Order: sequence, then C-alpha cells, then structure tokens
Amino acid sequence: MTIGRSERRRCYVGKGRVLTLFDPWGNPLCTCPTKYSLQPYTGCSHGCLYCYVTAYVRFRGCRPKKDFLLRLAKDLEHADAEIPVSMSNSSDPYVPEEQKLMLTRRALELLLKRGFKVLIVTKGSIVERDAEVLARGNAAVTMTITTLDSSLSRRIEPNAPAPTDRLKALEKLHEAGIPIGVRIDPVIPYINDDPDELKELVDAASNVGARFVVTSSYKARPDNLARLKSAFPELADKLDKLYKINGRWFYGYWYLPEELRRKLLRPVIEAAKKKGMEYATCREGLRGPEWFKAGSCDGTHLIPRRITPKRTNRSLYQHCTK
Ligand code: SF4
Repeated sequence: MTIGRSERRRCYVGKGRVLTLFDPWGNPLCTCPTKYSLQPYTGCSHGCLYCYVTAYVRFRGCRPKKDFLLRLAKDLEHADAEIPVSMSNSSDPYVPEEQKLMLTRRALELLLKRGFKVLIVTKGSIVERDAEVLARGNAAVTMTITTLDSSLSRRIEPNAPAPTDRLKALEKLHEAGIPIGVRIDPVIPYINDDPDELKELVDAASNVGARFVVTSSYKARPDNLARLKSAFPELADKLDKLYKINGRWFYGYWYLPEELRRKLLRPVIEAAKKKGMEYATCREGLRGPEWFKAGSCDGTHLIPRRITPKRTNRSLYQHCTK
C-alpha cells in the first residue's frame, strides 16, 4: 500500500518520535512553511533570560534525548525528505554539551547523506566544527544574535558564546560555502532596542556573508518576564506597563502594541534593505514588502539542493550503534 504525503505527515506527530512536524501551537501569526522539528537535546544550557522554552521544560540546563540517534534513524525510514528539518526550535543544537556528545553532528551525518534538507538555528559558535559536513549537504545556518554588546549579551544570554564568536563562526560557514542568515530575535524594549546598535548588528552580519535577516519583538511570558525584571529591576515597572497594560495576551504571550513592535523592528528591516539582504519578521502579523521580502520567514529557502534524496533503509541503524 502506498502511503500518501499527507498521511506520512500525520504519522510524524506521534509519541516517541524525535522527528516531529513543527507545531506553532495554532498561532495564526506563524508563517513558517511545513517543516520537521528535531531537537537532540531537551532544554538548553545557554540560559537566555528571555527563553520561551522554560515554560515547558521544568529543569535548568539540557539533557541529551534518550536513544536519540536510534529513534531518529527509525523516524527517517518513513520521513519525507522534501520537508525541511529545522534544528532546533525549542533548544539549541550547539549547546556546550554538543562538543563532547556530538549528537547534532551524528544527526547531520544521518540526514544530509540521505538528501534531507536541514536548517540549523543556533547561538552556538561550535557549529563551525561541522562546516565540512554542512557544506557537503542540503544545509543552511541561521545564527541568533541579539546585540553586539558582549557585556549586555552576558547579562541576557549568560552561557551563550559572545556575539563576536558567533559572527566569526558565521564567517567560517560562509567561507565554506554554506548559506547563512541571522536572527535578531528578540528585540526587547529598553534592553537591546537601540536603533543604531541594531543597524550595526545587521551590517556586521552582512559583512560576514549573511544574506537573510529575520527579526522579532520580545513576546513576554510570565516566567521569562519575571527573569528580565529581576535582572533589570529598574525596568520592571516599565516592562509591566508596556506588556501587561498597553499590550495584549495573544496565544500564550503578551504582545506589545503593534505600533511599538513596528518601531522596534524597523531599524533592522531598514538596515537589511540598505544592505540588499532578504528580510522577514517572525510572528508579528506585519505583512507586505515593507516587512517581508524573502523566500521564507525562517530561512528554509536558503537551503541548497546538493544531494537528491534517496530511499531510506534499515542500514541507518548501524550508523547509530557505531
Ligand atoms: S538559546 Fe534558545 S533555547 Fe537556548 S536558552 Fe536561549 S532562547 Fe532558550
């Protein structure tokens, strides 16, 4: 019996899978194309104050997923190689633990040699270690950088690599021929919203070869807002007013008023236009060429087709038990 694509897609929301369809939790502002989501780790050790994931993962730091590679190999037997795989949406594939555990590296080897399309979304500069593997396959990388100010970055993303290290990693990936983009996400009022600094950040990304930028305003959840207020007590009242009084609760987040979100993101978009980069916003509901001019909002369009997908088979299991 032949299984149709829509049926195969439905199969990949099941329990025990590590390769699952990306689920924006019904948020109608999400414009992501259909994609798989793959997380080698549960949780994340970068410790960003604004992290959204901590509402769902109740422990600090990260843990490798149990039998991750075996489960991935099994999932790939039935997965649709035309659907891009995003690594990762609710953790980081290049947490410091990856240096030793190499789960992301092994997953890439599994995916790329079989012609799957992979989008890496990370803050981890150790992604440059895998440049050779990424360059051989259908892969692109977007690096999240929220500020060029390393002391501010240490305050809001305490365990993530310094912004300069992330830029250097991007440059190396670009030199290796891997398409790269930058995520300037989130832009947080009063914290990393200086228009000139945001423009400098876009310029810096463009200078190392990024051809795409996606940006988003900070959407508050009770736990991450509490962390930000604790780290920046002088801003606590202002943030509360902006989000809880002037903003609105929408699909699990407090959103800023639209006019303010436009103001926060405009410097990024204008700088990208000046540099001739593609640009998009994430979950903002800002439409039209003023805010969106790219093949996709998430960077999946950057993925080149270098390897044609082959049929998967059970020999994949051997890869996991090496
Ligand atoms: S890198 Fe992403 S997943 Fe990790 S702590 Fe920061 S925001 Fe959360």
